[in-house]
Amino acid sequence: MTYPDNILYQVTKPARYTGGEWNSIVKDWDKTDIKIALSYPDLYEIGMSNMALPILYELLNSQSDVLAERVFAPWVDMETILRTRGVPLASLESKHPLKDFDVIGFSLGYELTYTNVLNMLDLAQIPVLAAERDDSHPIVIAGGTCALNPEPMADFIDFFVIGDGEEVLPELLACLRDWKGKAASKKQLLRQVATISGIYVPSLYQVEYQADGLFKSITPTVPQCKSSIKRRIVPQLPPPVTSPVVPYIEVVHDRGAIEIQRGCSCGCRFCQAGIIYRPVRERPQEEILQAVGEIITNCGYNEVSLVSLCTNDYPGIDKLVVNLSHRYQDHNLTLSLPSLRTDSSSVRLVDSLPSHRKIGLTFAPEAGSQRLRRTINKYVPEDEILQTATAAFAKGWNTLKLYFMLGLPTETIDDVQEIVQLVDKIGSLGKAKGKRPRVRVSVSTFVPKPHTPFQWVAQASQPELDAKHELLKLGLRRTGSRLSWPDPKVSLLEAVLSRGDRRLGKVIYRAWQLGSTFDAWDEHFNYENWLRAFDETGLEPGFYAQRERPLDEPLPWAHIDVGVTTAFLKQEYQRAQDGRETPDCRNKACNACGLERWQPECQQKKKLSQQATLPSKENLGTLTIQSPFN
Ligand code: SF4
Ligand code: SF4
Repeated sequence: MTYPDNILYQVTKPARYTGGEWNSIVKDWDKTDIKIALSYPDLYEIGMSNMALPILYELLNSQSDVLAERVFAPWVDMETILRTRGVPLASLESKHPLKDFDVIGFSLGYELTYTNVLNMLDLAQIPVLAAERDDSHPIVIAGGTCALNPEPMADFIDFFVIGDGEEVLPELLACLRDWKGKAASKKQLLRQVATISGIYVPSLYQVEYQADGLFKSITPTVPQCKSSIKRRIVPQLPPPVTSPVVPYIEVVHDRGAIEIQRGCSCGCRFCQAGIIYRPVRERPQEEILQAVGEIITNCGYNEVSLVSLCTNDYPGIDKLVVNLSHRYQDHNLTLSLPSLRTDSSSVRLVDSLPSHRKIGLTFAPEAGSQRLRRTINKYVPEDEILQTATAAFAKGWNTLKLYFMLGLPTETIDDVQEIVQLVDKIGSLGKAKGKRPRVRVSVSTFVPKPHTPFQWVAQASQPELDAKHELLKLGLRRTGSRLSWPDPKVSLLEAVLSRGDRRLGKVIYRAWQLGSTFDAWDEHFNYENWLRAFDETGLEPGFYAQRERPLDEPLPWAHIDVGVTTAFLKQEYQRAQDGRETPDCRNKACNACGLERWQPECQQKKKLSQQATLPSKENLGTLTIQSPFN
């Protein structure tokens, strides 16, 4: 089945729904046993820029008995037509309705896409609540960063994959083959997958709350389930995807992408990615060099992004850039390096890129004062920030974009004023170089995230944020810089959903019933809907977002073991209060974050650290640490 032309003629960007792109894979539907719809709960342009989707698409389609097809959230114009005509949501490849697939797998990377998950299921004419789906319906699964607190979405998802999907896939596919082969029930499948490490089946766990409304516990109801779900970690990055689907319309990241490393060891205390993607796994240089060539050949791209959480930290990044420039000099190759550290080596690095345009440089100091940068463990001395700006202006950049966060733990008005002062100093440096510098300041609201050292802290209240925002606005106006600040109500909702429990399912469901979808889109975000949904379900947003949680309060995501222990997070929380830094464990000693329990490299590193801190009597002071990462 395909969407009739008279539907496609009436919507913006019909190519969002037509499929048929270069490198897309269409398998024989009737001859393939297991059918999986890879679903992204946002627009095509956003989903096609996601890094995980092509990996799963390629891995699944490499199995002869599996087909994987894509589906994205239809924009409102398409939704209206589908609903009016009763046409079910279908996949891009074979155009089969989603309800004909065995499995629908959602990628959950942002809490504000949750209502889109419900909407996509409903548009597919599949019951939204897991409890209302029976053996005739597809199994609905989810993975991605949000799965690390799965509870708010537990009512809608049959099971969650926790951690690297590549690692779980072989065992999961074996279960699915068995299930299909025996025509077993959904109930049997769920009990079977619950035995796989890294899979969480929420319906097989019971949640209890205390009399005062606080969360109490989550316990398995069947012997197959473990009380703690371990995050799966792929020890070595699988080969990069070098034949990804090439969109026919412009998408957010319109270029090739090679993941050069996974994980980050910097240890910024607000950053969830820095915890949940540990340990760092690097891709060998030669593999990257070859992959870039293949992506040029297979996709026709002449721009490739070297993707990493912190690109500077990739060992030998300068050499890699030089080697890529030499090897592909005939291809007019443009390289892009996202996520650069605020230091002058980043400026040198970007300046050394082939065919770079000096449009703008982006850095994220996150906080205006040195004190606060130390508290969040993203310490960069002010001198270094100013040297970075000086180097950028000297190399010919006119525009600098700086990212900060408002409402960080322990932040005072003085810290906010220091943002203004820092921006002012940077602007003056540009003028001293005879330029008319443009300094753009982007400020987001701090959202405390699960599995981070700040998972217990309260998000700042609206009046507090408003006062700080006003101060920034006035101060930055004097410096002539431009300020952008997204709606803090969006961040409030993000904070609620990030650290929520299973009761929030009712709020999400009600907000969706009231018409909320595309909550991450300004023009669609409807705060009134959410307030009404909270009110009708008897829950309070402030209870989840703006309440400081005692360190011994049971947390709704504590049954998800990401590898980093609560003891380490508490220690980091305390160090933040004391204004103490924790060094990056990549080139310094192991901080014993908990991963050393699982990871052989970390075990080795911890052993070396202990030897270094506990020198033998005969050999006092002469021990040196050999990092296994070097
Ligand atoms: S450098 Fe800090 S903010 Fe960036 S990914 Fe690493 S831990 Fe997160
Ligand atoms: S166990 Fe040690 S080396 Fe491994 S990620 Fe944690 S702190 Fe770093």
